[in-house]
Amino acid sequence: MTATKDLFTTLEQETLICGRCGYCRSVCPVYEVIGWESSTPRGKISLAREIFAHGKRNKLGEDFVKRLDQCTLCGACANVCSTCIDTRSLWLELRKRVADEGLAPEAYVNLKNNLITNKNISTFSNSDRLEWAEDLDEEPEGLELEEEADVCYFVGCVSSFYPQAAQVPLAICEILMQAGINFTTMGGEEWCCGYPLVSAGFVKDAEPFIKHNVAKIKELNIHTLIASCATCYHFWKHACAEELKGYNLEILHTTEYLARLIKTGKIQFDELDEVVTYHDPCDLGRNGGIFAAPREVITSIPGVELVEMQHNRSNSLCCGGGGNLQSVDPALAGHISALRVDEIKETGATIVVSACQQCEQMLSAGIREAGLKVRVMDISQLLQEVLL
Ligand code: SF4
Ligand code: SF4
Repeated sequence: MTATKDLFTTLEQETLICGRCGYCRSVCPVYEVIGWESSTPRGKISLAREIFAHGKRNKLGEDFVKRLDQCTLCGACANVCSTCIDTRSLWLELRKRVADEGLAPEAYVNLKNNLITNKNISTFSNSDRLEWAEDLDEEPEGLELEEEADVCYFVGCVSSFYPQAAQVPLAICEILMQAGINFTTMGGEEWCCGYPLVSAGFVKDAEPFIKHNVAKIKELNIHTLIASCATCYHFWKHACAEELKGYNLEILHTTEYLARLIKTGKIQFDELDEVVTYHDPCDLGRNGGIFAAPREVITSIPGVELVEMQHNRSNSLCCGGGGNLQSVDPALAGHISALRVDEIKETGATIVVSACQQCEQMLSAGIREAGLKVRVMDISQLLQEVLL
């Protein structure tokens, strides 16, 4: 979460703190696309104040819920708020209130029911979580539920079940094998991290997911967990902290772990003569504070020139894929992605690298749509290509 999280009091009080300065409006990608005051963070807070602080319950209707869900939870508004409101926490609390009132959109309710049934965001059986591993040249020993492995790789739902994203776990496995790391996964015992439920407002429903995953990690006696999904990483690090109290678990994003492998000389690379730009995933960068590790990894490849986009690090633009936006307004998600694609184009880079499979999917679609000749890769795929 952002640095202001500890300041979050109650929804009612936070809405009263807003000074209506509008700093949040200038950084919100949703406002950039829609252009209506009601779509700004400030506009939504004004409405929330009327509904919850001033008791105008009749205003809690479809229009408000629609505006609330037109948000990627990118955290850009929280980053600039002049009164230090943790707006990201505020949006989550509002979505919870809406779900508690039975007003969550149908797409969220379907997502919840599917998650409760399948334990993942796809419609596939959770026991098929390791199907992507069939494409490994050689399956490593102990890939599933190996007790006391040095590292457990939390693959995440998208990389486990969506063929377009399967290259990410394949690349990570190959790198870990090359580095001689004793690693495992939770296989069919890995459940969704729980974030899709929390971001849809079903906070209580996420609890069994957190409890299950944490219990499995403890049972396996694992003390280092890595995640390649920026949001899974963020969720493990922050939302699971309470459940992990008293247990020593180091939680790292794969970029941090890869930077460590490079520093200790466990992996080396061939030269790559390319101009690369890096897209900071919101939950890894602005909301997670990890900016240096991915850049260290990219610049450790000899020959690579890293160029930054106009908005980078804590000011980075969202790819459009966060906050379950695609499930309720895919057109808006696509327009937000196009804003980022324009910045990629301006860099002149031949490759855009991210560190989250969701960003990779969104940017790939946006770049295809724009007809650009730019390759989109996860950082692990970039390394896999040049691994010696
Ligand atoms: S989290 Fe991002 S998309 Fe949502 S209101 Fe804030 S700036 Fe806009
Ligand atoms: S930046 Fe903060 S105080 Fe200013 S309008 Fe936005 S939410 Fe309110």
